[in-house]
Amino acid sequence: MKEKLETAIKEYVKKYSEREEIKSNWKAPVIAYADAEDPLFKKMKEIISPTHSLPVDFLEDAQTVITFFLPFAERINQSNIEGRLSSKEWAVAYIETNQLILELNKHIKKILSQEGFKSTVIQATHNFKEEELVSDWSHRHAAYIAALGTFGINNMLITEKGCAGRVGSVITDLKLPPTEREDVEYCLYKKDGSCGVCADRCVTEALKRDSFDRFICYDICLENVDHHSNLDLADVCGKCCVNLPCTTKNPIR
Ligand code: SF4
Ligand code: SF4
Repeated sequence: MKEKLETAIKEYVKKYSEREEIKSNWKAPVIAYADAEDPLFKKMKEIISPTHSLPVDFLEDAQTVITFFLPFAERINQSNIEGRLSSKEWAVAYIETNQLILELNKHIKKILSQEGFKSTVIQATHNFKEEELVSDWSHRHAAYIAALGTFGINNMLITEKGCAGRVGSVITDLKLPPTEREDVEYCLYKKDGSCGVCADRCVTEALKRDSFDRFICYDICLENVDHHSNLDLADVCGKCCVNLPCTTKNPIR
């Protein structure tokens, strides 16, 4: 079942890129699995918010959280290197990837239900509380628990294919073996104090080597909403995700 799911996810993303109306493209996804009972899910209530959900809050007999990272094509990353505001390609990729994640989740649900299993469809973003800017389900933290990657100081998940892209997750009652977590940081700054390139690239005062102000960060995301007002809601920035040692690869390998 694992192989069937992984093949279906990879094929779906490839075919999605080929659709005439889609402007973005993605490299092959990275996929990892968490045990829905992993004690780290409960710990997220302390780390993120007491209202942060558990897999069982979405699905009574939750067994596994399937997580995936959809890496942006290189031209999208390159387009966002220069300038203070996000490139159009980056903004479009954000919008299209959110839609792709939603449709991919529906596709996974269909495959699982054909085999008699239940699963969730949780949208990629905007399931957060505006006043606190925290989400009741963090795909990235679920993906961390699933060993898809570890967090950089830029708050992005660094996977084997870097951090430029987006993460999605699906909760299911199908039991699959969890991916094993490594006891190592992929972020070079967290590993040995080297790097910090993402903080140097921040276009505001939001990201520093030892701190992050999500409200300052969100201000520029809102500026990008105005800048790309001809597009759907693009509350993005992403300047601290590109032109880094961890943009497209795991920098410790
Ligand atoms: S650019 Fe360097 S410091 Fe920033 S997240 Fe990547 S590895 Fe860590
Ligand atoms: S998204 Fe933009 S404003 Fe926010 S931390 Fe990164 S570079 Fe700074």
